[in-house]
Amino acid sequence: MGTSASERVVYAGCSLDGKVDRIDVDDRGRAIVIDYKDKSSLFDDYALLPAEVTGTYALPKRVQALIYAKVVRDLLGYEVVGAVYLGTRGNIQLSGAIRDGYADVFDETLTSAQRARMSPSVERCGIDTFDGLLDRTEELVAERIARLRAGEIPVAPDEAGKACVHCPVVECEGRRS
Ligand code: SF4
Repeated sequence: MGTSASERVVYAGCSLDGKVDRIDVDDRGRAIVIDYKDKSSLFDDYALLPAEVTGTYALPKRVQALIYAKVVRDLLGYEVVGAVYLGTRGNIQLSGAIRDGYADVFDETLTSAQRARMSPSVERCGIDTFDGLLDRTEELVAERIARLRAGEIPVAPDEAGKACVHCPVVECEGRRS
């Protein structure tokens, strides 16, 4: 990700390289960052906010769209109002996070509960704005990177153990499958 070959994009203290699939911008400069996925029903797997109203925010399993949204906001100066994953297979479902009041544009594709889950709120996750979600995500990513740099690399496969299926570390005590 960069506006020119010489421009260095920094996120969470690290150089960032990548490519945004799509940015939709309306005539008022409001933008939604979209990342395509070759999937159908992806709402839960790609959700960025907790299903339960917990009042706390932990990094979701996938942060790619939130990283892109933050960079698009800060680097390009758009008023970013959403970061979504769009499944391009089957029923064309989407998931992600969106500024409060904007989720209703998806009322034909998502249930009211799904739309509610896409908007940060103090009750749901302890963060009350979409911009705050982007900023907090970067802070947590920076903390995670700092721990990795300090050599703290816990054995933490995903719950389904997909990463373990083809892993050659046969005697790993954390193996899940
Ligand atoms: S087997 Fe161990 S090292 Fe390999 S992916 Fe699973 S948890 Fe990680």
